[in-house]
Amino acid sequence: MVTAAEALQRLLEGNQRFLAGTASGVLPEEAKREALKDGQAPFAVILGCADSRVPPELIFDQGLGELFVVRTAGHVATPIELGSIEYAVEHLGARLIVVLGHSSCGAVQATLGAIDDPDSSSTPNIEALIEKIRPGISSLGEAEGAQRLADAVEANVHATIEHLSAGSNLLREREDLVILGAVYSLETGAVELVSPGAGS
Ligand SMILES: [Zn+2]
Repeated sequence: MVTAAEALQRLLEGNQRFLAGTASGVLPEEAKREALKDGQAPFAVILGCADSRVPPELIFDQGLGELFVVRTAGHVATPIELGSIEYAVEHLGARLIVVLGHSSCGAVQATLGAIDDPDSSSTPNIEALIEKIRPGISSLGEAEGAQRLADAVEANVHATIEHLSAGSNLLREREDLVILGAVYSLETGAVELVSPGAGS
């Protein structure tokens, strides 16, 4: 089993390769498929935004079988996502969970828009998504514009981490499990860890 610390190092090294544009060190996919046909042991779970510009396997330079990825707009975690993550921890042995937000997140932006204009409306399902994000970003500081959005992105990462702990005894109580937050920059391609408790 890969420990949380080793898993984090692998992710950060993979993002460095992605940034540098260097070839990945993963096995050729054919050999990898053969090795994985009877089972999987992903070393990390990524709960990320569904944004097409933030695919975890690419930005962390990981191949088949390495990452257990769950994605929703704004990395919203309902019981369905929690169940998927619990499966990866309980049955596949992953010991690191990274909640991955990103700059200029459209789901966060839409929620700020709904806060600013309570009369705005969307489809019922998009509104349900916004209502899941809203509590985590409704009490930001005085920042405006781009800084306000950046603060909201980070606050949304922290809110999702709290949802993981609050919504799952398994994730909250497992002592060798680490849950971290990170923000991917669309501008630079870099992943930055966010410090616990900051940005909210
Ligand atoms: Zn997003």
